[in-house]
Amino acid sequence: MEYDLDDNIDNASTRELFIGQEFSSRSEFRSFVSNVAIERNFSCSASSMNNSRRIIYTCDQPNCSWRVYARSIGNGNIVKISTLESRHSCFSALTIGRHRLASAAWIKSRIIDIIRDNQSYSAAQIVKDIYREHRVHVTYSKAWRAREMSLAEINVSYVEAYGSLEEYGFRILETNPGSRFFLKTVENNSFQRVYICFKACIDGFLRGCLPVISTDATFLSSKYQGILFIACAHDPNYQLYPIAYAVAEGENNDSWAWF
Ligand SMILES: [Zn+2]
Repeated sequence: MEYDLDDNIDNASTRELFIGQEFSSRSEFRSFVSNVAIERNFSCSASSMNNSRRIIYTCDQPNCSWRVYARSIGNGNIVKISTLESRHSCFSALTIGRHRLASAAWIKSRIIDIIRDNQSYSAAQIVKDIYREHRVHVTYSKAWRAREMSLAEINVSYVEAYGSLEEYGFRILETNPGSRFFLKTVENNSFQRVYICFKACIDGFLRGCLPVISTDATFLSSKYQGILFIACAHDPNYQLYPIAYAVAEGENNDSWAWF
């Protein structure tokens, strides 16, 4: 499968720093500044003033005027740019093809959405794609580390998502009365199956669809795999109309009967 890195991240040509710009966290700000520096082929470094709520980046070339000041606002994690000098008074002296800011964390920010869809995205392919998109050479080991960091972050979010299923079901039944939600767990409260059918889908089927229900199942390719079951009907325009779906541990007589 072909991936275009810029399909996943905002368009590079629109990436600019400006006064008043806000970021949801310090790490998002750092990643953004790294992107700007890598694309414009200069190097910069961060420092904090005695007040740790401020981050300052300056160009690494001696006496260069380029700098950006950002500070935390409110009580949350939001960071806002307060001062910016976007012109350089230096001549960039970077070695073409290398960049100090092309760290594993920066690579992670470029690839994590691709890995979310394809966990077999390899370190070798990451090296090639980063060079193709940014003309920056990163080592295989750095690409590997970025891949591991992405997988760790994605898998933590999977665990949190499975852990929230009971609450999700409660909210569905509370806000969509008449819906059906069944969660089946095994020992240690581990996930086995979930079944979801919204009341609006039941009503739409009874009022507007042809009285035939089709069922099918397909394999899921994410970390925990499993099977997606779906029950569909046809609306009066002969378009597919979803009625209910379920996720189970595998396709067998027991899981089909349960669905
Ligand atoms: Zn400079």
